[in-house]
Amino acid sequence: MQETLVKCKNCGAPIEYTPDSILVLCSFCGYANWFVDESKVQIFVVPSKSRDKVLEAFWNRMKKDSDMGKIVQELEVIDTYGIYVPIFLSKVEVFSEWSGVEVRTVYSGKRTRVERIQKEGKFSDKLLLAIPARRTVEEFGLDELVSKVSSLSPNYVKLEELNWDDVKLQVLNTEISQSEAVDSIKDKAEDITREKIRTSNNISEFNFYSCNTNATETILLLVPLWIITYRYKNGVYNSAISGYDLVFLKTTEPVFFYQRILNLIGSLIAVLVGVGVVSLWLRNFISLGNSNSSLFFIVVAVICFIVAYSLSTTAIGDVRVERWG
Ligand SMILES: [Zn+2]
Repeated sequence: MQETLVKCKNCGAPIEYTPDSILVLCSFCGYANWFVDESKVQIFVVPSKSRDKVLEAFWNRMKKDSDMGKIVQELEVIDTYGIYVPIFLSKVEVFSEWSGVEVRTVYSGKRTRVERIQKEGKFSDKLLLAIPARRTVEEFGLDELVSKVSSLSPNYVKLEELNWDDVKLQVLNTEISQSEAVDSIKDKAEDITREKIRTSNNISEFNFYSCNTNATETILLLVPLWIITYRYKNGVYNSAISGYDLVFLKTTEPVFFYQRILNLIGSLIAVLVGVGVVSLWLRNFISLGNSNSSLFFIVVAVICFIVAYSLSTTAIGDVRVERWG
């Protein structure tokens, strides 16, 4: 991204500005330089709780947690930082017309036969969707924060209502424009709608699918995200907390000995079930030549092996990831 020479509006020192910058704090005087084209995008801020409140929430949770509570004296917070992440939020109206086929297996006596049922319909819906205004989502817990904002829009205030001199949080730049954001929000809305129609009508394949999407009221929200880094013995772990309601979004925690054992046992059971399912399927297939239910067996077996894999990696790893939301 090319950098343009821009001067701080307060002291005149050069500041690092890229065309996507929303806010650049002057490194000489600390002044908050805003670059907002009000005609292009409306920006709102979700106020953050203070650092003290975030830390209090962290310790409360650790004390209440049945595992972490036992070792809470041995935990040491080594870093606490908050950032404002830009998230586009949009109301989307969708209107879809579709036609498709439901494939149904009908059992009559010992014979099974496959019926194809033609279906068609119209569907309209209103959605609230959020996407990060960033190309790469490397911040710990950001995905979880975005889906939290999508499911329930937080309270926000106008940019100028917040005193930025008091807010010591860094603001991440936006990396995508509003029109790009609207495009991908529309894509997301179409995917969600298609999936809704597919599942509620049991559609196996669409013959025709059209979707009109209309994004209304797209705003850019600056949402506070806090990340606490803590140490336990030789391991370093993270907790991501949403800054406006102090909800834990995601956290990594040490794996305790009994959890390793439980995970290993669980993993073993999943492998055995998976192998059992596969051999059952093979027997069915070879002796009866019945391949109708193959898909079912394969799906169950694959799920078993995935469960086994994830349990066993947790069992031998040092970090356990928990998510909320
Ligand atoms: Zn300055």
